[in-house]
Amino acid sequence: MIEKIHKFYLMRIGPRLSSVALEWIGALGLLVLLPACEVFTPVDQTLPASSVVGVRRGRHFERVITHFHSSYSFDACDGHGTVTHPDGTITPNLKCEEDLETALCLNQIDSLFLSDHVPHMAEVPLEQLLFTSRSEEQIHSPKGEGVAKLMTCKNGHKAFFAPGLEGRLLALGMERHVGADYRSRRDLYSDDAPSSVGPLQKIAEAVVVIPHTESKSLELIQRSNADALEIYNLHANFDPNIRRNYLHVAPFSHLFSFLDYLMDPYHDLNPDYLFLDFMQFFPVYFDRWDHAIASGHPMTGLGGTDAHQNTFSQHTTDGERLDSYRRLSRFMAHFVLVENSQTEPYAHYRATKDSLRQGLVYLVVEGLGTPVDFDFYAIRHRADPRSPPVEMGQSVRQLDEPILAFDLPKVYEQSPGVARYGQPKIKVDLVFVDRQGQESVVDSVTREAHHSYAPFQKLVYPKPTPGAYRIQVWMTPRHLRGVVRKGELTEKPYLWMISNPIYVTE
Ligand SMILES: [Zn+2]
Ligand SMILES: [Zn+2]
Repeated sequence: MIEKIHKFYLMRIGPRLSSVALEWIGALGLLVLLPACEVFTPVDQTLPASSVVGVRRGRHFERVITHFHSSYSFDACDGHGTVTHPDGTITPNLKCEEDLETALCLNQIDSLFLSDHVPHMAEVPLEQLLFTSRSEEQIHSPKGEGVAKLMTCKNGHKAFFAPGLEGRLLALGMERHVGADYRSRRDLYSDDAPSSVGPLQKIAEAVVVIPHTESKSLELIQRSNADALEIYNLHANFDPNIRRNYLHVAPFSHLFSFLDYLMDPYHDLNPDYLFLDFMQFFPVYFDRWDHAIASGHPMTGLGGTDAHQNTFSQHTTDGERLDSYRRLSRFMAHFVLVENSQTEPYAHYRATKDSLRQGLVYLVVEGLGTPVDFDFYAIRHRADPRSPPVEMGQSVRQLDEPILAFDLPKVYEQSPGVARYGQPKIKVDLVFVDRQGQESVVDSVTREAHHSYAPFQKLVYPKPTPGAYRIQVWMTPRHLRGVVRKGELTEKPYLWMISNPIYVTE
């Protein structure tokens, strides 16, 4: 299904869009010839190191992306991600690989969990999916297998990247294939039955995720023993078929904004902010997530970047293709809390996977700005004062009289727009999911826009009743008004951060 959609894109939308774009360019040729009022002013296209976000109770934040296609997906890099040689061997397209590495380095992504389609990832040995045979770059399991790559960038940043799969499920951080050859892997990798989940978790030691939740039944989600599900998917957000059939919104309404950025006759649009035109979180994802966790199965909520470099190959004013790996890995990521004590590379890699499974994860639309100073936890009022606070993904008993707390975030001072326009207005919602899977906002705190850093602010919620609690932070990004030329887009609220739940039990 997913493969079909991608083929549809490659074969139908891509060329059609190009010809529509050409007609527009012809019709507006005069406009293009007019002298531009203002030259495109580049803003910082990179992201700060995740260390600016700080540490929390023995854990530090890592910037992690969990759904991303490398050259080993049949449809990545305009369908030319790999070269098949006459002897049947497959090698990656070096330009595609370089684009991916550039994205990781410039955006200082700490861990990239690849999710490649069965063709061609299942056809090659797992070590080949690491893009390196240099032992100093490979992370080895205790059995001596190369399981991930630790890359050192020219700017000094170090990034892990790990092989993985997208069939009907995502298997992130696979440490080995399940099955000796392509034929024996293909069926298991392409299925989403509960019988596929176990081998991917136990043999491949992967984090198993239900992707494209919009098209999955609640029954399948509840029966599956997956570790996580997607609560956003970029591809679903703009694919006309998915929009019409599963999200029930106008299929093509957003395509005009893509054309704006492709044409940009005055060279004054910043395509890194295109997401403001179309990004939308759809209720169907939260409905599935709420019902899944209400049935007693904690699942981590993740966001799917689903980048392929295969949709808009046309270049924009900044000289990059509209759907570049760099642009898409700048707009959204997870901030994952990882144990400080795991410093040996393989232990660190395993600790990151454990945190994804356990739900120590915030989904962040970082294109709006890098959040700092935030913290979601619960303390037990009636317990021993030395007992540690309760983290996301963990449970606390109602009997212990927990108090839920969230320290409000600020935008990192050096994120675009903040030095000039100050901090934006944010609204924090504490969302409660009851045991029937119904959600409601039980508390909110608003922080008005402020030129300098606003005083410390906190949401405090005593005596929560049993159920799941998560934080959603809305931002009205007026600090971006000097960056985003479509000023009206900076006047409306966007979801900036979504935490994973803390569970209160009886
Ligand atoms: Zn694909
Ligand atoms: Zn995908």
